[in-house]
Amino acid sequence: MQIDVRTIILMLAIGSFVFGLLLVIFQYHKESSEWIPIWIAAKFLQGLGSLILYFRVPSPEFMTVFTANNLVLLGCAYEGWAVFYITGRVVNRRLQHCVALSIVILFSFMFLLNPLNRLVVIFFLHTVFYFLPGWALLKHNGQKSLLRSFLGLSFLLLSILFFTRTLWVLLVPEQSYIAFDELNKRIMPLAVFCIILISGFSMLLLANEKSYFELHEAQQELKNLNKKLEILSNTDGLTNIANRRYLDERLILEYNRLSRRGAQLSLIMIDIDYFKLFNDHYGHVCGDDCLRQVASVISNNISRSADVAARYGGEEFVCILPETDLKGAKIIAERIRIDVENLFIEHQQSKISNFVTISLGVSTIECCSRKNTLDILSMADNALYKAKMNGRNRTEVYIKV
Ligand code: GH3
Ligand code: MG
Ligand code: MG
Repeated sequence: MQIDVRTIILMLAIGSFVFGLLLVIFQYHKESSEWIPIWIAAKFLQGLGSLILYFRVPSPEFMTVFTANNLVLLGCAYEGWAVFYITGRVVNRRLQHCVALSIVILFSFMFLLNPLNRLVVIFFLHTVFYFLPGWALLKHNGQKSLLRSFLGLSFLLLSILFFTRTLWVLLVPEQSYIAFDELNKRIMPLAVFCIILISGFSMLLLANEKSYFELHEAQQELKNLNKKLEILSNTDGLTNIANRRYLDERLILEYNRLSRRGAQLSLIMIDIDYFKLFNDHYGHVCGDDCLRQVASVISNNISRSADVAARYGGEEFVCILPETDLKGAKIIAERIRIDVENLFIEHQQSKISNFVTISLGVSTIECCSRKNTLDILSMADNALYKAKMNGRNRTEVYIKV
């Protein structure tokens, strides 16, 4: 099949304009980032350059041909920048403008060169402008995809084709015009056209993929932020264990879950003994540190995934122990009490020990829909009151009278 070079140039012009229009539609739909306008500009510059060449090829005038080549090369440079944006690289705007200006200046002085050297410069610039985006796509460290690799290889192939043409003109200048008619003027442009068409489509798909990645990343970030916010809103700022809000929420949740089976739920309410005197004597900074140590002992003593240790308020803590009977809960409470005692935090003002101690109240209920969670809380509070009355530094259980 014989396709003359004019037809190929016309196809290139139409192809570029079509891609430019597709990109405009794409931007309208996606409201995508800043690299899309750069890419639209690239396609229209290439399209305009090719169109000028098409109308002038039978009798090319020097100025027209070089204006056309200038536009095509500017388009290639901008397409390269678009790829740099897609691959997540930071693009220096000043450098971008400098490259564009350099191309224009270079082309303004093209008339100083002989025709062969002009060809060398044009082909070599094409080599560079296709090699760089190809390299950027293949060397990309972030999101990898088959599409990126394919597009990268297409650009590299284009760059190799143009480099071959550069070498051809450089090494065998006397034959290059003859060879041009056969190989350079037909097969090469056709190959370039095919690759440009394929790379254009891949770029469009990549733009779609990029918006997908951006959306996916934004969603992921939002999810992480929500998770952080949730953790923050459920955590006590001083002790880093769960706060009252989370405790209330989980108590209702566990209670309802266990109600369906009539299972047991235990609660331990903990209060530091003579903590007001501790604060008055050692100061609030030491008081806060003591609260942190006690909280850490409490959370270290509960191990099941459904168990919860929370700061109830001031110097009071609560443990929720689902599916735990009174005996089991009392064992855990005693373990906590002894571990706090063994912290040996000095407390000279305490009326019962030289060190910080705690009192604990344990309550257990069989969950059923008739009762509510306030019952079990007030039962544990009752037991705690009894522990205080009976001399502190002890565990008492709630027994219905
Ligand atoms: P009891 O043995 O009867 O529990 O006596 P108590 O002094 O521990 O009880 P009381 O309720 O009178 O005092 C609680 C004290 O806890 C009051 C306050 O000084 C202290 N407190 C409450 N919240 C904090 C806090 O966040 N940081 C510090 N450092 N102290 C706190
Ligand atoms: Mg208290
Ligand atoms: Mg207290």
